[in-house]
Amino acid sequence: ESFVAANEHMPSYGPDSPERKQLYEALNKYKDTTTDIPIVIGDEEFRTKDVRYQVMPFDHQKKTAKFYYATPDIIQKAIDNSLKARKQWELTPLEKRAEIFMTAAEMISKQKRMDVMATTMLGQAKNIWQAEIDAAAELVDFLRFNCQFSRDITRYQPLSPSESVNNSAIYRGCEGFWAAITPFNFTAIGGHLCSAPALMGNVSLWKPSDTAMLSNYTVFKIFREAGLPPGVINFVPADGPVFGDVITKSPHLAGVNFTGSVRTFKTIWKLVAQNLDNYVSYPRLIGECGGKNFHFVHKSADVKSVAVGTVRSAFEYGGQKCSACSRMYIPQSMWPEVKQKMLDILKEIQLGSPLDNKIFLSAVIDDKAFNRIKSYIEYAKNSPNLSIVAGGKCDDSQGYFVQPTVIETSDPQDKIMQEEIFGPVLSVFPYPDDEYFKYAQMASKTSPFALTGAIFVKDSVAREELVDTFRESAGNFYINDKSTGSVVGQQPFGGDRLSGTNDKAGGPHYLMKFLSVKCVKETK
Ligand code: GLU
Repeated sequence: ESFVAANEHMPSYGPDSPERKQLYEALNKYKDTTTDIPIVIGDEEFRTKDVRYQVMPFDHQKKTAKFYYATPDIIQKAIDNSLKARKQWELTPLEKRAEIFMTAAEMISKQKRMDVMATTMLGQAKNIWQAEIDAAAELVDFLRFNCQFSRDITRYQPLSPSESVNNSAIYRGCEGFWAAITPFNFTAIGGHLCSAPALMGNVSLWKPSDTAMLSNYTVFKIFREAGLPPGVINFVPADGPVFGDVITKSPHLAGVNFTGSVRTFKTIWKLVAQNLDNYVSYPRLIGECGGKNFHFVHKSADVKSVAVGTVRSAFEYGGQKCSACSRMYIPQSMWPEVKQKMLDILKEIQLGSPLDNKIFLSAVIDDKAFNRIKSYIEYAKNSPNLSIVAGGKCDDSQGYFVQPTVIETSDPQDKIMQEEIFGPVLSVFPYPDDEYFKYAQMASKTSPFALTGAIFVKDSVAREELVDTFRESAGNFYINDKSTGSVVGQQPFGGDRLSGTNDKAGGPHYLMKFLSVKCVKETK
């Protein structure tokens, strides 16, 4: 009852620290092995003939995991099994369910920290800091805060106005099963999307991303070791369309908890619509689908915070965060100085293995991402409105390496300012200083997304104008700070428009989606 969640402390990983040593031990354990990862349904493991591999993005000859795509029959088995597990789980009191996830949080915080770190670094090409803010700290935060929020939001009981009437609310999970379809870019999101429904009394099928298989399996095993009963979360690697088809055909689909592309989320929504007449309940859909996030700079802004904040937002983890800044609007008079500062920083950035602690930036996730990002860079090279002012080189001979690339544009509506690239590519439009309001308005409407965005401004009148202008352009809005790095419990995360259903992961309201509340009036 007295428990109050606090954000997880991050170790420093200094050169001689014990945590650095432990991390390297863990990396050695996974580095030269190909971990075999089964499909897990209840207590049973399955391996099919459809064998797949997860490779290390920075050294793609190395296979870090071998796994198996579930067939439609196996996916159906996972559904049936989870519906069976639901009977007990649904009756398990919240305190008990929370205890399991609090235990998992403790395990990740302590004895398993280096396992989630190492598997995220190797499989998803994250450096120590990017792995730490994700697989360790953020995942622990999601688990702990959700346990607290779950108590907060189920505390409400309706009034009972007289002795003869007793009103009460019973907080239950949803009838049916949830599907968690999760992305490669945050291990924490994988662990969060399957565990939040489970915490609230639901069962879920977890379809991890192929390119986050090893870390996600590591997290799954921790949940089980922490005491999660078999079947509450089933681990089901599968081909996306096959998985989507089977789950949306099941009459018992309670909801889909999704993070990924707009295209896939729309496909899921359409499949649900096609099957609407077959469902026991209306499936609930949660989507977090990316962005085209802006940094809008006013001439009163602090030059250094603009340069540093923009480099960090656009290029940390290769711009592969839904929140990454990918379009910047800056006064023409300020651009030369900011550009120079950014170039000075970029010059120091080396690309390489994330295991090397000097490396800021490693490879992008896979060949598909590499080719997509490269095609945008090629487009920029061939377009008269665009010029590449930094980076621009791509090399996939050993790993999927793309240099941090800055593109200057004279056309604020160019597709490079509108389409999500999801890589280390930043587009910049230097605008005429005295037309800042016109371009702020344009920037607020240019993109079909509304996930994150930042304004950099010291002048108080301009600040008010900009806050008002960008009112509907970002679910997570920053003033004088970069657009990435939302913290659980501090900046609950999500956006509108094509960016998603804005259910605000990392805040209390998110958990409402997984509850079905029964109100009872009893007359004595
Ligand atoms: N919450 C993360 C951030 O603010 C981004 C999550 C995502 O990429 O989906 O940087």
